[in-house]
Amino acid sequence: MKYMPLFMNLDQQPCLVVGGGPIAARKTELLLKASAKVNCVALDFADRFQQLLQQYPGHLNLVNEAFGDSQIDHQRLVVAATDDSQLNKNIAKLCRSQGIPCNTVSDGQSGDFIFPAIIDRSPVIAAVSSGGEAPVLTRLLRGKIESVIPSAFGHLASLASHFRQEVKRRSPNIASRRKFWETTLTGTVAEQVFIGNTEIAEKIFAKALAQAEKGQEKGEVYLVGAGPGDPDLLTFKALRLMQQADVVLYDALVSQPILDLVKRDAELIYVGKRKKDHAVPQQDINQLLIDHAKLGKRVLRLKGGDPFIFGRGGEEIEGLMEEGLEFQVVPGITAANGCAAYSGIPLTHRDYSQSVRFITGHLKDGSTDLPWQEFVYPAQTLVFYMGLGGLKTICEKLVEAGRAVSTPVALIQKGTTPQQRVITSDLANMPEMAIKEKIQAPTLIVIGDVVQLHEKLSWFSPDQIKPTED
Ligand code: SAH
Repeated sequence: MKYMPLFMNLDQQPCLVVGGGPIAARKTELLLKASAKVNCVALDFADRFQQLLQQYPGHLNLVNEAFGDSQIDHQRLVVAATDDSQLNKNIAKLCRSQGIPCNTVSDGQSGDFIFPAIIDRSPVIAAVSSGGEAPVLTRLLRGKIESVIPSAFGHLASLASHFRQEVKRRSPNIASRRKFWETTLTGTVAEQVFIGNTEIAEKIFAKALAQAEKGQEKGEVYLVGAGPGDPDLLTFKALRLMQQADVVLYDALVSQPILDLVKRDAELIYVGKRKKDHAVPQQDINQLLIDHAKLGKRVLRLKGGDPFIFGRGGEEIEGLMEEGLEFQVVPGITAANGCAAYSGIPLTHRDYSQSVRFITGHLKDGSTDLPWQEFVYPAQTLVFYMGLGGLKTICEKLVEAGRAVSTPVALIQKGTTPQQRVITSDLANMPEMAIKEKIQAPTLIVIGDVVQLHEKLSWFSPDQIKPTED
């Protein structure tokens, strides 16, 4: 992060703008909107300044002279917006020597601070910046945000502010208070405010508050599938709940870009299980979910892929059910779907495969517990999860049971992420190739004639990371 976004109180603060052109006028107007007292220094002023003088009486002072060093004295902020880039640089240097933040407009924006693109729904303000590097993108993004934040959003914030102390008094528990706010500010109350029915909104709000005060709020659990890695593959619901949860228990398979989308002040608890390294035993995870929910928190159990596919989701909600706790299950894109799509290997195909099986490759006692005979029929795709360690056994057992040694096999490592790797071979040669290519977990094994299509249909080109020599 090159620039730290901060919101600064400039109310009645002296600010200096050097320059009298249209850019200087725009910066001046922004400062005036923030109730600053603005001095503008220039030899010539664009017409816009006259309008600003009338619009903000007593706040704007136009100084019709050349810039002099002493003008920066006692200023809270300086904007160097002349058309002389050397002068702008000199002003910036001078300001820095005196510890005054300066924005310069030469060669795009630079200096100690930059002006973001602003979405003003006062008292709610959103600011967007690309650090001065892609102003067009920033403006496009602002347009998008403008379109999703209703213009009356500020009224909702005012209503919240009006009731804030009362809610605090009547609902002293922080977690239940937050839940109350989130429920009311996203439901009917908000809708009424947006269509201008503030009075009705206030009535509904008061009723909701009385109810919340009476009832002992219970927490709830969201069992959410985070998909295979690419954050764009999250569902809307997953994202919404991620931004509401107070506590998040997550697995090793949940990628960092996805975790970055969790509400910032949520408590993050890693309960990951990597092979042989059981960070938190399953029983303890189940208990953690129950304990946090009983404290009235909204607990998000974030799991790689889909929670009900080799995800022990069933075990986790069983405990919640027994305790009478509320929960929701949100499906995610399972590794098989994600890896198939991102490697160009359709799991079924009219010419090659009429069915697909998701199989655990985590072989207990060698391999005895899988029905190998059922996997022999050629027009079916086999997808092994957790199968990298048992790859050799899997390939051998399939051949032993009668599947052709030439059956194509694909290994997809870290599917859907920028580190995705796909290698293809056949049942006879894949075990050796996987070792040679240093394939690592998480990897999915896809077996069947559909794998041939990879060469033709592959479209996703991640930044290939070559295996490191060690
Ligand atoms: N619930 C998860 C599966 C958990 S089991 C889901 O629905 O996807 C863990 C196994 O999933 C790993 O051993 C690996 O085989 C597979 N896996 C998960 N994410 C993967 C990814 N991004 N790329 C390849 N395989 C993945």
